[in-house]
Parts: sequence; structure tokens; C-alpha cells
Amino acid sequence: MARFGLNRADEFGGQGGAGFFSFKGRKDAHIRFLYNDVNDVEGYAVHEIELDGKKRYVDCLWDGKGDRHVCPLCREGYFTQVKYLVPVYDEDEGVVYTWDRGKAFGRRLEKLFAKYAEEAPLCATCFTVNREINEEGYPYYTFTPDYTDDTELCDLPDFQRSAYGRLVLQKSAEEMEEYLEYGDFWDDEAC
Ligand SMILES: [Zn+2]
Repeated sequence: MARFGLNRADEFGGQGGAGFFSFKGRKDAHIRFLYNDVNDVEGYAVHEIELDGKKRYVDCLWDGKGDRHVCPLCREGYFTQVKYLVPVYDEDEGVVYTWDRGKAFGRRLEKLFAKYAEEAPLCATCFTVNREINEEGYPYYTFTPDYTDDTELCDLPDFQRSAYGRLVLQKSAEEMEEYLEYGDFWDDEAC
């Protein structure tokens, strides 16, 4: 699995929004998740490719059943990663970012919803996030609720929830073949 830390997040090109969330040297950060309830969460099965010198995500065409070769990138051995591109409001900066998280983060989110989004939307709770490093050298995060108020999503800056066509490129099998041959898409950046 292609692993990367938050320090590499800048390599991922993103259009729209302020980009990817990172700690920028902070020991902790104060954030709200821009979700009401668990139904707002979207996970993506993606391939990581390089386009114009930048890492990008492309939606995997395999639906989990049948012949995996319907997806040319699967066929060529590109690893499929589960991604959660989590919209967060950075309270310290007053900016909406996308937090690029992997498969395991889904379970963290489920727990946060179960604990803090019973009576109010999850976005009503402000959390202190601490970034720590585990024994294997990978970062992990702890969440401590600071306070809950009556903030709703409409009180926070506008953002696009879905990453499809934006942070996760949607390409056809033909377009993927084109990429595999030429390392580019003809209609690159049109989405
Ligand atoms: Zn695939």
C-alpha cells in the first residue's frame, strides 16, 4: 500500500478549496468535522497516479465483484486504496480543508459519530486533535472534545462535500488506457 504522511499532502494536487489539512508545525489543532451524521461520510476506492508531476487519485472502476481487469489500472497492478477525504473546519485558521485519511479512519469516524452526534450534528462539536507518532513511526491522532455549541453546517464556510471529479478524478477505461500509454489524459484538468 502506498503510504504517505501529512508532510506529503502538498504533492497532491487539488482544485478548489484551501487544500489539504495539515498540522503545519502545530502540536495540536482545533477542528470541526463538516458532517451532520454518519450518512454524510463518503469513502473512495482509488488508485494513486502521477499527473503533471503531481500525485492524483483516480476512481477505481472495479465494483468489487467479477473480473478486476475491467479497471485498466487494477490490471496493471496499481494498488487500490480506500480513502476518506474528510472536510474539516480549522478553527485556528478559520478555513475549510480536506483531511486525507485512509481506511482505518472510517472506524474512528464511526466512534466519534456514536459518541458526539447523538443529539447534535457532529459539526456542533469542536475537537482538539493531537498528532502523535506510534512505535512504527506513523502518525496517529487523538480527539478530545472541547465544547459543543449550536453550530450547523450552514453557519460554516461553503464547501463541496463530494470529492468525485475534483480530488478523485473520474476516468473511463478508455481514458485509463490512454494514461497507461501516454502518462496523460487528453482532457486533463477539464474536470
Ligand atoms: Zn482499479
